[in-house]
Amino acid sequence: MRDKPIATPSRTREILRKYGLDAKKSLGQNFLMDVSVLNQMLDAGGIDDQTVVIEIGPGIGALTEQLVEVAKKVYAFEIDQRFIPVLEEELSDYSNLEVIHQDILTVELQEVIPEIKHHSGERIVVVANLPYYITTPIIMRLIASSIPFDCMVLMMQKEVAERMAAGPNTKAYGSLSIAVMNHCQQDIALIVPRTVFNPAPNVDSAVLCLTRRSEPLVKVDNEEAFQTFVKATFQHRRKTLWNNLMSVFGKDKTVKSKLSAILEQLGIDPKRRPESLTISEFGHLYEATSSLRDCSEKTN
Ligand code: SAM
Repeated sequence: MRDKPIATPSRTREILRKYGLDAKKSLGQNFLMDVSVLNQMLDAGGIDDQTVVIEIGPGIGALTEQLVEVAKKVYAFEIDQRFIPVLEEELSDYSNLEVIHQDILTVELQEVIPEIKHHSGERIVVVANLPYYITTPIIMRLIASSIPFDCMVLMMQKEVAERMAAGPNTKAYGSLSIAVMNHCQQDIALIVPRTVFNPAPNVDSAVLCLTRRSEPLVKVDNEEAFQTFVKATFQHRRKTLWNNLMSVFGKDKTVKSKLSAILEQLGIDPKRRPESLTISEFGHLYEATSSLRDCSEKTN
């Protein structure tokens, strides 16, 4: 590494000037200029010389530079062509870096990364200072994939990290928390002030660590349908669970009595708010109402 890391205000300015670059807001470009934040991210992901890293959006290489210093191998996926020569030149000393000019939302990772295609127990970690505009789709895509990652260490908007990490009976808890917690254990590792980015975004950030569970907390026949059900149940947060379920299934008399019996059998008070339900209660409710869902689908 050179005397001064890329993740400093002076090197960031120097590189942007040298290559005639500016940050594109439409691609969520905010460059990190704080090495201690990056080191905390590496620590949170337990990155060492045995770790294979998938980096999303390397930009001008602030995080990449720290990663290649310690990781076994880094695959860095960048959508913006302008950064490819920058990364290749500024990080040319590192033979363990592969820069790939592809959209992380469409690339087939198993086709590009041999350690995934022929996985033989390597520790794979996803690390990123995420482009804000696609934070949730990226995370959902990776969670739903069969990529054998151990954990993800992801910088994102603080408010989104809080929603993803939230548990029952909190304001931030919702369908996003449930979709994430079903597959990953969630921990907010650090809060990062907006001032360490160039340009500074309008909000603070947080680093969320998602550790893949060996089994989902709730096993359902159709994950997408489960998430749609949970989302619909959270539609009116201030209303009771019962009123939300009425919106989901309709107010037909037979449906009402079936629902009432289901809730009683599950020991769930219909007067509770949706945000008080645990993921396993949502799982049971989803399974128990499958016949009602089929009916309401047929009548709709
Ligand atoms: N890692 C750098 C840092 O920490 O300074 C840059 C982070 S910046 C917040 C997000 C980066 O993601 C940008 O370089 C942007 O071009 C890239 N990006 C945006 N959308 C992308 C996509 N769909 N696939 C891959 N990279 C993307």
